[in-house]
Amino acid sequence: MVDFRKELRQIARMARDTAAPYRIDRPGKFRLRDHDPRDTGHLDAEDRPAAQEMLALGRSALAEMQDRLYAQNRWSLLLVFQAMDAAGKDSAIKHVMSGINPQGCQVFAFKAPTVEELDHDYLWRCAKSLPERGRIGIFNRSYYEEVLVVKVHAAILAGQRLPPQLVTKRIWAERYEDIRGFERYLSRNGTVVRKFFLNVSREQQKRRFLERIEEPDKNWKFSAADAHERSHWDAYMDAYETMIRETSTPQCPWYVVPADNKWYTRLVVGAAVVDALASLGVDYPVIDAHQRAELVEAKAILDAEDEGGRHAGRRRKATHRVDEDGTGDKAGKTRKAGKMGKAGKGRKAKRKDDDGKQD
Ligand code: ATP
Ligand code: MG
Repeated sequence: MVDFRKELRQIARMARDTAAPYRIDRPGKFRLRDHDPRDTGHLDAEDRPAAQEMLALGRSALAEMQDRLYAQNRWSLLLVFQAMDAAGKDSAIKHVMSGINPQGCQVFAFKAPTVEELDHDYLWRCAKSLPERGRIGIFNRSYYEEVLVVKVHAAILAGQRLPPQLVTKRIWAERYEDIRGFERYLSRNGTVVRKFFLNVSREQQKRRFLERIEEPDKNWKFSAADAHERSHWDAYMDAYETMIRETSTPQCPWYVVPADNKWYTRLVVGAAVVDALASLGVDYPVIDAHQRAELVEAKAILDAEDEGGRHAGRRRKATHRVDEDGTGDKAGKTRKAGKMGKAGKGRKAKRKDDDGKQD
């Protein structure tokens, strides 16, 4: 039998080594130009099959850890993706997350704010989309747009209808401070935050735009507005650099991921996610003697049942008692999510649906 925990420790070590060069947690004098978008670490194009194998290993480790995260129901993981257009956010999210249980994962894409969203503070729409305990949440763009596109285009800030006396030259420093505070608050409440800047070069973006124009199946991905945004490239790079310098912390680091080679981008993002989950050491909840006795009793009832379902009256009574326990105390949750496998998860998801809270 495979010793899963040992195997996981090995994969986690590999993942940490792969992601470490791109992790910014003590930014000091962080400079974007020290980070080459074409970087592929110690791998080259010929190593792609090996990279794909590593990614597949990482994916299976991720699936196992996600199951434990969900069963434990204490931590949550928030993954924030920011990038210029065509840097590969969508495909990185798709590849890294393929194979994990969709029930434990929520993806939100943040576009230009709606009228309702503009009527609130800028964290509001993101705060109400945060992952619940036990879940992985993915933000495809996020509150960081507030110090990127909003900083690059003065007209957007003007459209936010903030009281004029609050819009001073300190506004960006205040936003960095508030974002750091928000993320510190999240991490103190059990939400682990990891942020990814997919660092694509200007030349590579142009190549990808041209592909989108030339290949009919990719036409839908192209927007003339994206091409126009390129004219602000330097302003965006300045904004990204300052953002990373101001909001990278040991608890909530940025990863500056080289994005000119998509296979490498996926590998690094996958590795950082594995590293984040492995660092939590999540495992299935352990049941106590009382819960063990209940399982033994339930098994005896099921074993005593014949094909026609006799003893059904007794079974119904026992099941009812388990459900009553389960909704209230943590021990019940343990039993439901951790030890009753998919059936338990189904019930948890359903409960959230009934509350109207989910997805
Ligand atoms: P795709 O890869 O499909 O192009 P995308 O994330 O670029 O995905 P789009 O619909 O093309 O999605 O663009 C979303 C746009 O919304 C981006 O230009 C982004 O800058 C903008 N946006 C996001 N948040 C804000 C915000 N808070 N204020 C203003 N604009 C925002
Ligand atoms: Mg776009």
